Amino acid sequence: MDFEDTPEEAEFRAEAAAWLKENGVPKQADQSMATRRGDPTVVPRAREWNAKKFEGGFAGISLPKEYGGRGGTRLQQVIFNQEESNYAVPPNIFSISHGMAVPTLLTYATEEQKQELVPATLKGDDIWCQLFSEPGAGSDLAGLRTRSERDGDDWVINGQKIWTSGAHYADRAILVTRSDPEAVKHKGLTYFFLDMKTPGIDVRPIRQVSGYSGFNEVFLTDVRIPDSQRLGEVGEGWQVAITTLMNERVASGEKPAPNFDEIFSLAQQLDTEEGPAIEDKAVRDRLAKWYIQTRGIELIRMRSMTAMSRGERPGPENSIGKLVASFKRQDIAQFGMDLMDMGGIMQEADDSPMSALFQNAYLESPGSRIAAGTDETMRNILAERVLNLPREPRADKDVPFNELKAGTVRSGD
Ligand SMILES: Cc1cc2nc3c(=O)[nH]c(=O)nc-3n(C[C@H](O)[C@H](O)[C@H](O)COP(=O)(O)OP(=O)(O)OC[C@H]3O[C@@H](n4cnc5c(N)ncnc54)[C@H](O)[C@@H]3O)c2cc1C
Repeated sequence: MDFEDTPEEAEFRAEAAAWLKENGVPKQADQSMATRRGDPTVVPRAREWNAKKFEGGFAGISLPKEYGGRGGTRLQQVIFNQEESNYAVPPNIFSISHGMAVPTLLTYATEEQKQELVPATLKGDDIWCQLFSEPGAGSDLAGLRTRSERDGDDWVINGQKIWTSGAHYADRAILVTRSDPEAVKHKGLTYFFLDMKTPGIDVRPIRQVSGYSGFNEVFLTDVRIPDSQRLGEVGEGWQVAITTLMNERVASGEKPAPNFDEIFSLAQQLDTEEGPAIEDKAVRDRLAKWYIQTRGIELIRMRSMTAMSRGERPGPENSIGKLVASFKRQDIAQFGMDLMDMGGIMQEADDSPMSALFQNAYLESPGSRIAAGTDETMRNILAERVLNLPREPRADKDVPFNELKAGTVRSGD
């Protein structure tokens, strides 16, 4: 494992750091920025910050120059993310747009579509959402039921999606549908992109426990999409969806707070009835555990960066990082609130930035143990691909989709 940047990586890091110093706001100066998730100014501020990065050559770092990217490497993107995590930037609402929609368009769209869609997306003018999950299809995505039926040069879409992050402000969407219910589950799917203003789309925000609505139900009723907006062949939508999902988790430099630093600093500041929290043996025991986990995740990230630096694909280590980091964040958030006692219930960042940070994380963190693959999905990946344990049985493998009983099968894919 390499712990040091190569000379080229160090040069890029210095350039990124210099640009961020000139254009960003250091974290301490505006800590609250990251915690006001429901704030209506978040989307405009995020677009503004992204446009700045685009002008500076730091949006779409690993994407080709002819479509507005920098023509750099995925590792450079990770390096930029690491440097950016030291700054109080608006929440990244472009991860689906840049990390999933763009790579899929670059693989499957026509040249004309790439020229029209990719630069506008990298600049942040177009925000994309991901219309994949349905009430009966999440971990088992290939069980989706939203229908697409051919009608002349168009397709007519009917069905329901759910948990669609950002659909309430998205301009465009990527969509997987079932075009042939008589084919087996992973066949008979067809993939499209569409404008979210297309008639027949009804977006209904879901109110979450935090009070914020980050995701939505999306109902599609007789939505007409021209065949030119199909990505990949008819019936080959699963292959296209795999391209999208493979890009879902590029090792990121993000360190979502509260992490070890924040809980350590809280323990240093707080006095309990028995004295300073930092001197309490039970507190020190928890801190030691989180320090070890944090260091372990950093080392795993290093391993993934080393693989990328050598031109290899990162392995299943990202699943370890995701599993441990999301559980750790929930654990730290809960412990921080407990330590603050009555003060822990303050949720407004303006009144109490520290308790707002812990409380918002406490309310949000269960979601991150589900989004982009649940804890159990991560464990299945590690069991099957790292430990080489037997794969889950796939009773539905050769059965036509319309002969499957809903909710009784799991693909294990
Ligand atoms: C914050 C957030 C944002 C999201 N954003 C989007 C989005 O923008 N677009 C989108 O399309 N989707 C989105 N999702 C949906 C997300 O992809 C699904 O919630 C996730 O894949 C799990 O699917 P599910 O909710 O249907 O749960 P299920 O798949 O029904 O799982 C229910 C439980 O069963 C377990 N389970 C399922 N299968 C297995 C198995 N084979 N072995 C062992 N255990 C299993 C799961 O781990 C879980 O505990 C988002 C979810 C969250 C929480």
